[in-house]
This record gives sequence, C-alpha cells and structure tokens, in this order.
Amino acid sequence: MDHFAYRSGELYCEDVPVARIVESVGTPAYIYSSATLLHHYDAVATAFAALRPIICYSIKSCPNLHICRLLKDRGAGFDVVSGGELLRALRASGDPAKIVFAGVGKTDDEINLALDSKIGWFNIESEAELANLIEIAGRRGVVARAALRVNPDVDPKTHRYTSTGKKESKFGVDLERARRVFQEYGRHGSVRLCGIHLHIGSPVNTVEPYVSAIRKTLTLIDELRSDGFAIDTLDIGGGFGAHYKSSEAPPAVAYAEAIVPLLTDRVGGANPLSIIMEPGRSIAANAGILVARTLYLKKSGERDFLIVDAGMNDLIRPALYEAYHFVWPVRPATGFVPAERGESTTTMPGCLPMDVVGPVCESGDFLAKDRMLPPMQRGDLVAVFTAGAYGMAMASHYNSRPNPPEVLVEGGAFRVIRRREGYEEMMAGESVT
Ligand code: PLP
Repeated sequence: MDHFAYRSGELYCEDVPVARIVESVGTPAYIYSSATLLHHYDAVATAFAALRPIICYSIKSCPNLHICRLLKDRGAGFDVVSGGELLRALRASGDPAKIVFAGVGKTDDEINLALDSKIGWFNIESEAELANLIEIAGRRGVVARAALRVNPDVDPKTHRYTSTGKKESKFGVDLERARRVFQEYGRHGSVRLCGIHLHIGSPVNTVEPYVSAIRKTLTLIDELRSDGFAIDTLDIGGGFGAHYKSSEAPPAVAYAEAIVPLLTDRVGGANPLSIIMEPGRSIAANAGILVARTLYLKKSGERDFLIVDAGMNDLIRPALYEAYHFVWPVRPATGFVPAERGESTTTMPGCLPMDVVGPVCESGDFLAKDRMLPPMQRGDLVAVFTAGAYGMAMASHYNSRPNPPEVLVEGGAFRVIRRREGYEEMMAGESVT
C-alpha cells in the first residue's frame, strides 16, 4: 500500500502532482510520502501490539533526519549500525534507551560514543567484540546492556548479499557457540549480557523462516535461563518485505499471525521477555520514488535504451542485487495510464522493450533491463518506484555526481528535507595543496 497514484493521466504523491515537485527541485530527486511511511509504521505497531514491542526503525534503510524524526514522533526507537547512524538517531530526538546498536565492526570510538549516549542495547556480533566492550566499559566504570546476535541457521530465501541468518554468515554467532559465549562472558560486571538478537535477512517474503528462527532461539533462551542467565530481551530484527513487482510482500498482520503466538506466553508472567523489532524496508521502501528525466533515446544493435539523468550512484539496487524496480512515466502518453502498478502493467499493448540506463560509465549502470515501456520522448519524466529504502541511503558520488535532493509530501504540501548537493559542497572536504 502506498500513496502514489495516477490521477487524470499523471502521477501524484498524496495530493501533489509529482511533476509540480520536479518543477521546483529538478531531477533526479527522491520523493517520499509521509502518509505511506506512517501507514507502514502503524501497520507493524498494530499487528504486533499484543507483544508491546519496542519498534526500532532501521535507520540504514532511509536515514534522512526528518524521516527519523517523523517516526520517532510516532513512537519509534532506532536500530543503528554506526556512529553516524547513532548521531542521526540522537539528532532526531530519539530516546537513547530505545536505541540498539548492531554491526560486526564497531570501533572503540563508536563504542565510547554509544556508552556516552547511554544507548539501550549493544547487539554483539562476536566474542572479540564482546571482550572489547567488557574492557572499555570496565575501564570507564559503567555497565553496558547487551544482546548476543545469533545465527539460527535458517534460509530466508532472499538474495545472497542480504541473507544473514545462515551459519556461515559474517554476522552473529551460531547457536551452539552462543551458549559457550554466555559461559565465558555472560557474568562480567561491566556488560550485562541479557538479550538475544536475530536478523535473518532482507527482504524475507515468507513467514516460515521467522517461525523457525524464533523457535530455535526460544530453545536457546530456555537453555541459557536454566544455566542461570537472566535473559530478558529478544530482538527479532527486521527483514519484512515490500512490494517491488506486485503485492509480493505479506502484510504486517500476516507476519504477526505467525510470530505473535510464538511469543505471547513469553511477554507476560514471572520472567517476561521484552520484544524488540527492527523494521526498515517494510516502512520506507514503498514510501519513496526516484524521479528522473529522459535525456536521450538510443538504439544499439537491436536494443533500445532510455538514457535518464539518474544512475547507479543515485540508486544502486539494480546494479548490486539485480533488484527489480517498476519504472513508468510520470505523465504517460494517452492510453498508457496503468490500471495497476507492477510487473503485470508492462505487458500493456503498444509498449516497447527498453533498457532504462543512467549516465554513469559502467555497463552495470541500469535502473531497469528489458522493460516494456510506453513510447517515450526526450524530456519525459520517469518514476522509479519502491525506492524509499536502500535508495538514497546507498547513494554515492561515483562519477563525481552530487547527491539528489529528498522531498517529503504531506497531504497537499511538500518540503525539501535534504537539498540538492552542489559541486562545491561535494568537493568541500578535499584540497589541492
Ligand atoms: N536489523 C539489522 C541488524 C539489519 O542488518 C537490517 C538490514 O540489513 C535491518 C534490521 C533492517 O532490515 P529491513 O530493512 O529489511 O527491515
């Protein structure tokens, strides 16, 4: 579900024509719908309400401060993976007690910053990291709270680059090792190791991997408790899907129907578990589009190319994961207004096969490959859908291309929440002497 729709032949974000925003901010540009962001946050919060979870929005998916603030005001905590993300969470007025800090390579500076900020949990990824945290917190005379990230060895059936819950993943420790980690490090005064963290991959478009992972983890929690460890927190991570090609992602209620019954008995009683969730993509992906302008049409051999002014530096997901994003004109030619958006629309009669490519000097610089599109002309705007998560978040300066602006729509109004970067700004940190 999102608030992007074709009305009277052109694409709107909420009540604002996308073309009107572009007249003001130019292209390429990211445009987000505030109502969609909040809808998806609320969907998770409502579906999982029985567990009273702390919902830590995963900043890495869409880190814009304004968006973080919007979600914080709705009740979100934050999942962070770097000092920079931690500072964003704090700048967005995030409650430090609702911040979880994951990542396999936390530096001493980042650990010190997190201790200074009194964050809620360190999500520990290895024995070496835990030993280091114990050392740093001990030296400072403070007590850190930590959860051990485990690999339940389930297959989330997603792209190999975003599958994180298998035994051989670089994240977390496997279940057998987890017990030994607790035996060795679980009774240190400076780190209270009292939680278990999971994040099995992203996007996980079926519920079974969660069920299997959570079942295995609850067994571990019972074993640890019988070994005398006071486990009071289970963080089930993120990974819920979004709609890229069609309605392929289960709604939040479908995940909840499978997950909530596994945990209902655990959140009450004498020994309650606090539940943490870390959704990112399922909140932000469908809430954002990338808009680009057609620069040229070109034929190479038998192939037709639509060359637009957004490239892999703006949206790297197609190049990195061969990810599918639905691409369609903002003001399609008469007769080409899609009845519904998604893969099925590209079989509309009269469409022509095209590769939608950017200006970056790489053959991997494409936004869509072999896609049926309506007839297009130089100057036409195209929208790349489901670009709200891991879009701007992964933008780079490759080919010395400044970052695009980000715009947030709220009903009939829009505001620039990140200005377009200029060339001077892009080079500001460099020197020629
Ligand atoms: N938590 C952790 C530890 C992650 O690594 C990620 C994504 O990589 C997330 C949460 C967010 O995942 P998603 O955006 O799929 O919800």
